[in-house]
Amino acid sequence: MNAVPQPIDLPRDALGRPLHDLRLSVIEACNFRCPYCMPAERVADDYGLDAASRLSFDEIERLVRGFVRVGVRKLRITGGEPLLRRRLPELIARLAAIEGLDDIALTTNGSLLAAQARALRDAGLHRVTVSLDTLDAVQFSTLSGGRGDLAEVLRGIGAAKAAGFAKIKLNCVVQRDVNDDEVLPLVEFAREHGHTLRFIEYMDVGTCNDWNIQGVVPSAELRDRIHARWPLHALGPQYRGEVAARHAFDDGRGEVGFVSSISAPFCGDCHRARVSADGRLYTCLFAGEGTDLRPWLGGSDADVVERLTGLWQARGDRYSELRSGLRSPRKRVEMFLVGG
Ligand code: SAM
Ligand code: SF4
Ligand code: SF4
Repeated sequence: MNAVPQPIDLPRDALGRPLHDLRLSVIEACNFRCPYCMPAERVADDYGLDAASRLSFDEIERLVRGFVRVGVRKLRITGGEPLLRRRLPELIARLAAIEGLDDIALTTNGSLLAAQARALRDAGLHRVTVSLDTLDAVQFSTLSGGRGDLAEVLRGIGAAKAAGFAKIKLNCVVQRDVNDDEVLPLVEFAREHGHTLRFIEYMDVGTCNDWNIQGVVPSAELRDRIHARWPLHALGPQYRGEVAARHAFDDGRGEVGFVSSISAPFCGDCHRARVSADGRLYTCLFAGEGTDLRPWLGGSDADVVERLTGLWQARGDRYSELRSGLRSPRKRVEMFLVGG
């Protein structure tokens, strides 16, 4: 393999944005049915369990090597629920060995993390993000579509910490009149345990969650509520294109972040591509169609790089900036296919 290419050689999209982050789904299936993502009444229980449609580990490794050649330095493994993918630590170990990849993270609902945290860490996974929308056990069950057990997820978070994952991230999607009363308890929990909490605005992603703007709690409102209890000050981004606006607690007890794709879109700095478990590339979370990369994975490395370069250069997506002027409904990929 040649040396890792330098920024000057890397492709930019039609709006001048480089490709830096890849979100890779390793499975379409999930053991939860969160109503904002994969509602039980719309998605069958056995959805996504057909292993034959998934990219193999060989195909994934090939693809990720190609992405590194066009600029990707950060990789996030996601799903569906990625911990349902068999032998995931083996895949992580193969990806961790790829030269040029600086960071490999995983987003999980945490339900299967207790049993796998150590193996994932040993395989070379750098970071873990666990989705956690509430600390109320009954509400947790409801918000996971009757599938999840809060205690199991908390055990998973504890196991990740014990396995050596520093600064575990917690993702919370806030919905008005659903879990907005859980914001302060979640902040307290994160501060106590040294976790980094991110509040994500409820998004109109996919086609099955009956999204309504009334359900969105703007980040500014959340920030004010948290600030009134634990004073905050804004932190600058750690790198260009950082999605979360970070704020530190004045008392030095960590930080909290806000991902404001509805109230403050950040398309201008969007350096992300997403690949579904069956090998389709989506250049935007709100794309209608993906491009099937599988046929290219049988060719040479140069073919893969050329194809990815061409697809990235043709990209002009900026859905969140255009959202209010667009007519709805519109075809959109489901969140559980591209993993957030
Ligand atoms: N199953 C894993 C999990 O839940 O962490 C990984 C995949 S899940 C699709 C990735 C992230 O997307 C989760 O943090 C979830 O809360 C978030 N998400 C799903 N639907 C969303 C929506 N409508 N708006 C905002 N975030 C959403
Ligand atoms: Fe599953 Fe994650 Fe979607 Fe919830 S948010 S249904 S855990 S994929
Ligand atoms: Fe990126 Fe599309 Fe989201 Fe804009 S709407 S930030 S282009 S994924």
